[in-house]
Amino acid sequence: MDKRLKRECELLSSTLHDNTITISPSIVFVIPKFYPFHPPKMLLHSIDHITYLTKIYCTYLPFIKQHNINLKCLCCYSLICRWSPCNTCKDVYEEYKKYVQQLQSMLKLFIFSKTNLNIDCCSIIASFLL
Ligand SMILES: [Zn+2]
Repeated sequence: MDKRLKRECELLSSTLHDNTITISPSIVFVIPKFYPFHPPKMLLHSIDHITYLTKIYCTYLPFIKQHNINLKCLCCYSLICRWSPCNTCKDVYEEYKKYVQQLQSMLKLFIFSKTNLNIDCCSIIASFLL
């Protein structure tokens, strides 16, 4: 397991300290005892990243539904819930980055929707952004 974690740290250009991999001050992976048979925990500002992002998702859920935006709920489909030992922390990190990009596009659209643009225009913009 040490060898594997070492390689994973290299992939993320970071180092391992007491079972944590620090990507940035706000992004930390906590490696469980039975890793890689149990998934890692990714913390965003010390909060589980799925909990953190799902909160944002749920805040905008009425808007997402109204415009039929193709944005899934992370708690239902993330790598963490269908974890296999061949996945890596880097995969979780990549999934997170992609998801944040989609969330940001949705938020841009939300701001658009506060302008005078009509609802149909917003849905068309949504289909381009997401
Ligand atoms: Zn969910």
